[in-house]
Amino acid sequence: MIFDAHCDVLMKLWLNKHLSVKDSSALHVTLKGLEKAGGKVQLFAIYIPEAVPSEHQFDVALEMVQLFHTHILTLPNVKWVKSRRDVANLEEDEIGAMLTLEGCDAIGDNLVRLQTLLSLGVRSVGLTWNYSNALCDGILEPRGAGLSTFGRTVVKENNKRLVWTDVSHLSVKGFWDTIEEAEFVVATHSNAYKLCSNPRNLNDEQIEALIKKNGVIGITFVPQFLSDHNRATIGDVLKHLDYICGKGGEYAVGFGSDFDGIEQTVQGLGSYKEYENLINELVKHYSAAQVDRFLFHNFVNRLH
Ligand SMILES: [Zn+2]
Repeated sequence: MIFDAHCDVLMKLWLNKHLSVKDSSALHVTLKGLEKAGGKVQLFAIYIPEAVPSEHQFDVALEMVQLFHTHILTLPNVKWVKSRRDVANLEEDEIGAMLTLEGCDAIGDNLVRLQTLLSLGVRSVGLTWNYSNALCDGILEPRGAGLSTFGRTVVKENNKRLVWTDVSHLSVKGFWDTIEEAEFVVATHSNAYKLCSNPRNLNDEQIEALIKKNGVIGITFVPQFLSDHNRATIGDVLKHLDYICGKGGEYAVGFGSDFDGIEQTVQGLGSYKEYENLINELVKHYSAAQVDRFLFHNFVNRLH
């Protein structure tokens, strides 16, 4: 069983509403792929492309919620999950789908917009994407500012609603402010900086802080975040996993593929269907209980 903490299928559907999630070759995550590889819970991010003017962004977020209903929840055996109990209640042949928000640009500085998205089922909130907004700076914003007063208000709202705050994409200062403020913190798609020096990755102190905070790090299949060379392999995915385990993170690590948010893919991990190849490698190096933890339980255990 696989719990995958991040994909961008909703963005691809928004760009092309005629795509079918059943078995389209234009998508990395499909129902066929989930069924083949043992996908059990998939998180679907609302990510609004940078090109959308700010005054339209909230409308686009709502359109993506609607696409989640029309294109994902209508798939056979796919059920909407919002809690650990919902996941536990899935039948053997059922797959859970959960909504997340990647970046809060769409809410502007309006808390009601966030509250509305939470009421519509969003269970994990990334505060910003790579740049700045009313909450925080992202990791590629040269200023590198941390949480604003409004950013702290949003994190407190997440805490109150038992929603995860996602630190992937945050500036370093924003990361540490969030560690201080958030009760339920995850990095849905980030790797270890020590192994690959991309600014999107987490340094040792950040990894240790997440582990200490009872958070989870979703290792991501973005080749540029896995290897400093031009291409990445499943072996690189295992290196990041092993590194985080070595820091004491055996119970604090999972996977967040970023499928459908990436152009290039890991060799042998070109779509959800090929998750099997990763699992086949995992079982060679870890016990069955460890593999289950990485693939599923570590994230599920943090749901409320
Ligand atoms: Zn992302």
